[in-house]
Amino acid sequence: MKESALGANAASNLSSRFLRLRSEFPQLEEKVYGQPFIYLDSAATSLKPKCVVERLHQYYLKEVANIHRGSHYFGDLGTRNYEAVRETVAKFINAKTDEVVFTKGTTEAINLVAQVLADKHLAHKKPAAPKSILFSKMEHHSNIVPWHLLATRQGVGVEVIPLTADHQLDLDWLQRRLRRGDIGLVAVTQVSNVLGLHNPIAEICKMVHRASPESLVLVDGAQAVSSAKVDVSDLGCDFYAFSGHKLFGPNGVGVLFVRDSEISKDFLPYQGGGSMIETVTENESTYLGMPQKFEAGTPAIGEVIGLGAAIHFINEIGLNEIQDFEKGLCRIASELLKEVPGISFFVDPTLSTNVIALKIEGCHFSDLAHLLNQQGIAVRAGHLCCQPLMKHLQVEGLLRVSLSLYNQQSDLEALKIGLIKARGMLL
Ligand code: PMP
Repeated sequence: MKESALGANAASNLSSRFLRLRSEFPQLEEKVYGQPFIYLDSAATSLKPKCVVERLHQYYLKEVANIHRGSHYFGDLGTRNYEAVRETVAKFINAKTDEVVFTKGTTEAINLVAQVLADKHLAHKKPAAPKSILFSKMEHHSNIVPWHLLATRQGVGVEVIPLTADHQLDLDWLQRRLRRGDIGLVAVTQVSNVLGLHNPIAEICKMVHRASPESLVLVDGAQAVSSAKVDVSDLGCDFYAFSGHKLFGPNGVGVLFVRDSEISKDFLPYQGGGSMIETVTENESTYLGMPQKFEAGTPAIGEVIGLGAAIHFINEIGLNEIQDFEKGLCRIASELLKEVPGISFFVDPTLSTNVIALKIEGCHFSDLAHLLNQQGIAVRAGHLCCQPLMKHLQVEGLLRVSLSLYNQQSDLEALKIGLIKARGMLL
């Protein structure tokens, strides 16, 4: 196929710029079952550029020390480097530095919110009946199970925002539901990890806060941050969670943005331990403020520093360029994959950021993934940790192709051939 799907010369310049970036990702040079490795599973986790791995390497070989204890050279250096990443993250999402909490990842960030809300905001305040939580039907299990646990432990009501026939959040339903005035929190993903659709977060935040200034909005940004500029101030959310590993950074580190507000000042710490206290006597403890009160114990120091390197890597390329490039790949995929007999997309790929959900008539998704794997092509198959969404789509699972800045048209051509071959073997 010609580059016409991407548009004019600008597209091909963009493409060659991103082609050069592939050398930053040595895993792409690997062979799988004797075939060139093609990675189309970045929504599960992104590959890591050399600059991130080298930064981790440097920390673990030459800079190890614990931080925030300040009695020697490397302890001070580590503290400065760790806190500098907090500033980098704050700029990256347009937050204040004190609003950035480091966590293990999105999952821990959401569990943290569930726990601190249970303490203060939901269960013990007026009205006497606990407030309810709303999450949408397209959420990842990480943004469902913590609310179910809260329901079990605290009797908090949990309800689901339905989807329309074209798989968008049903905002009319939300508007009507908010009128009852008993919603403590709305938890919603910015980009679906299955469908790649962008939800209108700013509009949702306005609706929720207009209905009740005490109601909070948590945004799951795990699938959004690597391919679109996030501005928590413009979005107007109260919490924003994401993971480093989907952002070209290391595993074991993530971020929770907590808006500085009267409500958040009231939250008790999530866990107790070192680094988060002001004083401890035999009978009681007093706590530091934000963000330290949510960072008990020794954090993932090297991984936080690695996350900083990942954000610098992204900033140097430019999120707008990344987004344009990935959207271009989605358009190419849409053209190319249409040629696979029996294929259908759950959402038109041209509407997606970087995720394409598909099925092939008569072929089981697991068999397709298995046969692609044998051809060196990595995709994801199954319910993708989104069982309620699968129910809405009326499938048990599906095949997901997810794209990143290191993919090229040739990967999609190989995928097309791979799918045709796999289908031929199955039917
Ligand atoms: N939410 C979404 C939309 C995701 O895609 C993921 C990761 N697949 C998560 C939450 C959970 O992230 P983690 O496993 O890194 O905590």
